[in-house]
Amino acid sequence: MIDKETIDKIYNAASILDVVSDFVSLKKRGANYVGCCPFHNEKTPSFNVSPARNIYHCFGCGKGGNAVNFIMEHEQMSYPDALKYLAKKCNIEIKEKEFTPEEKERNDDRASMLILNDYAKKTFISNMFETEEGRAIGLKYFRERGFSDETIKAYELGYSLSDRKSFTEQALKNGYQLKYLTSDEKTNIGTGLTIKHDDGYTFDRFSSRVMFPIHNLTGQVIGFGGRVLDARTKGVNVKYMNSPQSIIYDKSRSLYGIYQAKNSIVRSTKCYLVEGYTDVLSMHQSGIENVVSSNGTALTVEQIRLIRRFTENVTVLYDSDDAGIHAALRAIDLLLPEEMNVKVLLLPDGEDPDSFARNHSLTEIEAYIADNEKDCILFKAARLTKEAGGDPIKKAQKISELVKTISIIPDSIKRSVYVKECAEMLNVEERVLHIEINKLINRQLGQQYPRPENQPQQPKPASQVVLNPDVASNARCRQYENDLLKLLLNYGNDVLFTVAEGDKPSEDITVAYYIDKELKDNGMVFRTPVSKQVYDIYFEIYNQGQKPDIAMFINYHDAEVSKYVIDLMEERHTISKIWEKLNSYVKPETKQLKQVIDKDLNGYKLEIAKQTLDKISKEIALLEKEPDSDEKTQKWEALMAECSSYTIYKNNLSRFLDRVMC
Ligand SMILES: [Zn+2]
Repeated sequence: MIDKETIDKIYNAASILDVVSDFVSLKKRGANYVGCCPFHNEKTPSFNVSPARNIYHCFGCGKGGNAVNFIMEHEQMSYPDALKYLAKKCNIEIKEKEFTPEEKERNDDRASMLILNDYAKKTFISNMFETEEGRAIGLKYFRERGFSDETIKAYELGYSLSDRKSFTEQALKNGYQLKYLTSDEKTNIGTGLTIKHDDGYTFDRFSSRVMFPIHNLTGQVIGFGGRVLDARTKGVNVKYMNSPQSIIYDKSRSLYGIYQAKNSIVRSTKCYLVEGYTDVLSMHQSGIENVVSSNGTALTVEQIRLIRRFTENVTVLYDSDDAGIHAALRAIDLLLPEEMNVKVLLLPDGEDPDSFARNHSLTEIEAYIADNEKDCILFKAARLTKEAGGDPIKKAQKISELVKTISIIPDSIKRSVYVKECAEMLNVEERVLHIEINKLINRQLGQQYPRPENQPQQPKPASQVVLNPDVASNARCRQYENDLLKLLLNYGNDVLFTVAEGDKPSEDITVAYYIDKELKDNGMVFRTPVSKQVYDIYFEIYNQGQKPDIAMFINYHDAEVSKYVIDLMEERHTISKIWEKLNSYVKPETKQLKQVIDKDLNGYKLEIAKQTLDKISKEIALLEKEPDSDEKTQKWEALMAECSSYTIYKNNLSRFLDRVMC
């Protein structure tokens, strides 16, 4: 359909940087750009864009290619559709024939549904502006709500006529298939613009409604929201009706307004989250363009991840009535574990984002936001205090609710800051909050840890990373090995936690079991000969069902081993420092023991990962000196991929180490 010459033109004109930037927030790094990969879920950027080579590559999931591949993969488009998309973006003209019915049929279902939605969108727009009914009802409604033609155009709003057969009949007459007009719950094929009764009777799903097209990131219409008009809402509970779930529309994964907002979100490094369609329109019209809504449904993790591709900063802006506050509190609990920075903005009594934006100038709105935007945890703390009133039992309940929210924040430094502030606000001791939070985190850790017969997965290394490369021992390795041996000798037989699963009897996990399992799962062995010897002796005894103790080692027949253990017991170093830090919060308990063990285990892994990375870097540097060849490129790519896996793992470990030191 598209000639070779035009295809070449498109390839030459499509800059990978421009194309990817429409979907991913990129930062410059050297000659390249990096961002969080849109194809797999990640928080540490491993998605690389090279403008010089005009390609992208993700070191995390391995996806890569040129601008056309990117659009095909990201937008799930066919090759011709991706070319058309890029042609449009680069202002290259493609002479395109009108689709004949045969061509329509040949297109895959997805493309057909998008084409139909596009047709429906255009029909709804022309209904609104070009029919008497549309102008008198649809357009009048939007104008009365104060929406300018510019806003109506930006969001492609429209109107569906009251004649319940008009849209379906017209679409069929224009060659669109009933299969795509209706929807099939089993296959998820079809747009659902038409509803078909069992007896074969068909009618328009959205008749007599103003229409809000829902766009994907590229601006294609994937679904619709239709609102019944005021005269008809009397006695009707559901004002809005949405397109049904389909292969192109998953409401839990789409956000209303994201297409119109994404550039502004990146520019302002912030996203406002509202509840309704008209909230988005009013805010946008008032000049605040970085605004999206969760399609009038409860916020989902997938929607949050969609926002997170563009920014980490979210301000929740819901109605200030009880329902709105409740929804905001729920949103906070979903946003925090995704490492978002969350703020809440409550509007003056009786206002919703729609009315507020309509009744105030941009300057007034901006001033109000600056004065009233609150950190979400402090908002929650204030809210809960108010709800508890003077009732001490209620207050205790509310505090535990708050503690639960703080415990889901991944960053330990942030957690500590919140504990301090909340302790003051609630007039409770900081120590008490720390104890409660640690309990919750401990419980989560216990839940993550499977029964001994299963494969332990915590903390999680990247699958391709093995921590047993030929990395020599150094002073830091020796120190970690010493620390771990000390923990074994002192606490090896202590129960660290208990795992229970279903009706099976619960099982005790000892310190020795935990350490050994964690090391083995990461393919790690001690590198210093004498510490490896002590470790092996320890587990030889332990695995025979006995309890190794320090005395056994001090009196051990091998003089080198006994001297080493004696020295170890006399050594005073890092562990005691960690104990001191922890003891300032709580008395030593198994929770703290686990923190110390995790710190040593992960510190040790981190050290090995760092050394491995150094080794890989040196190999890359050596390789760079070799003359260019296919083999060199292959080696280079393999090393880069390895380097990237270790980097991700290293970063995960660092983050984990932050977390265990609450
Ligand atoms: Zn990826």
